[in-house]
Amino acid sequence: MDLPFAESWKIKMIEPIRKSTRIQREQWLKEAGYNVFKLKAEHVYIDLITDSGTGAMSDRQWASLMIGDESYAGATSFFKMQETVNKITGFKYVLPAHQGRAAENVLFSCLVKEGDYVPGNSQFDTTKGHIESRKAFAVDCTIDEARDTQLELPFKGNVDIQKLEKVLIEHNEKIPFIIVTVTNNTAGGQPVSMQNLREVSLLAKKFNKPVLFDSARFAENAYFIKVREKGYADKSIKEICREMFTFADGMTMSAKKDAIVNMGGFIATNIEDWYDLAKIKGIVFEGYITYGGMNGRDMNALAVGLDENTEFENLETRIKQIEYLAAQLDEFKIPYQRPAGGHAIFIDAPKVLTNVPKEEFPAQTLTVELYLEAGIRGCEIGYILADRDPITRQNRFDGNDFLRLAIPRRTYTNNHIDVIAVALKNVFDRRNSITRGMAIEWEAELMRHFTVKLKRL
Ligand SMILES: *Cc1c(COP(=O)(O)O)cnc(C)c1O
Repeated sequence: MDLPFAESWKIKMIEPIRKSTRIQREQWLKEAGYNVFKLKAEHVYIDLITDSGTGAMSDRQWASLMIGDESYAGATSFFKMQETVNKITGFKYVLPAHQGRAAENVLFSCLVKEGDYVPGNSQFDTTKGHIESRKAFAVDCTIDEARDTQLELPFKGNVDIQKLEKVLIEHNEKIPFIIVTVTNNTAGGQPVSMQNLREVSLLAKKFNKPVLFDSARFAENAYFIKVREKGYADKSIKEICREMFTFADGMTMSAKKDAIVNMGGFIATNIEDWYDLAKIKGIVFEGYITYGGMNGRDMNALAVGLDENTEFENLETRIKQIEYLAAQLDEFKIPYQRPAGGHAIFIDAPKVLTNVPKEEFPAQTLTVELYLEAGIRGCEIGYILADRDPITRQNRFDGNDFLRLAIPRRTYTNNHIDVIAVALKNVFDRRNSITRGMAIEWEAELMRHFTVKLKRL
């Protein structure tokens, strides 16, 4: 008999978590204005609000903290980080930043001007924010198939090359760079194939445009290339990463994802001009060029985390856990963005709560129901997050309306996953009795999901 699959690590340190009663949760959620961002974390049993900065560091990462070099300039910790990034990505210039959006802020301050167009696959919220706040336009050229949650495609995060070419022709002079997000978070943690990266790069060369990777989950993307794309089964994750980055001129990185640290990020590139410009902005916004808002110890942990998480076994353990949850949802027939992505399951809320009209925010309603059911905190990636159209001020109902269950790295066991699946099933079983959703009582003009106040209808 074949031995079953198991984690590639064992546990050395634990953190207690607590259950609560439904009556307590009803009170807490009401006080939070039915916005799970406003809950106290101690009132959450299993926290799936994000996989960002919530992973568990390894013993080697914790050990590296003790030998962090906190020198203001030229710290050994910086050089360790630079060397690791260089080895994994092939990029020579490395500029630390305190997290992903800070890296975006520094680089985009240099490159994005009013009236510009930045095409790519789906741009992440903060990326879009840093483009739109500079009065430029983010153009989403993701393949149309990504919108159909029930379609099984191996690389649903891909860029539609024809759409991209059209934008390149139409706005040629106004395009500072192309951005490819790996994996495509917004489309459901869906990977981009090597073939697609190659085609984007060829097209970019034809139009003489640089390519930037938003690389938060590049290692998970490499895993999918290895297991799904022809010709990569026998290559190591590190070899695949090196090849992926040959199709880019630079990267921004949120190290809170695939480098498994609680805080950190960087820009890396081979374009000397980009580096020279970014250095100046980096000093203004983040700090001197060899720390950029990070502690020496954190740069050490980042270097170790990046090295560990570009090893197959670590990634396999993670992605198999997402697949484990997906298999249970299949059994219960709960619809989600298929196939399961790299870091999360995205439940297709309007397909579950068919009696809740879109104006009453089905995904937010499902988020609330799951918390009330079992103290599990997911996150709405849907109509509330989509904000209003800046011109018409109407709600944007044209995208997907997901309840995202983001799984932190190396944090929960499959027993927790079982609890999540059954809690969802219990909500799913009473879905037809849920006929009303939520109404907005107060909202901010931008990024309203973080602070919105809601009421139950
Ligand atoms: C998280 C994330 C960012 C922003 O990074 P932060 O570290 O949260 O600032 C940018 N792009 C993608 C794809 C992300 O997932």
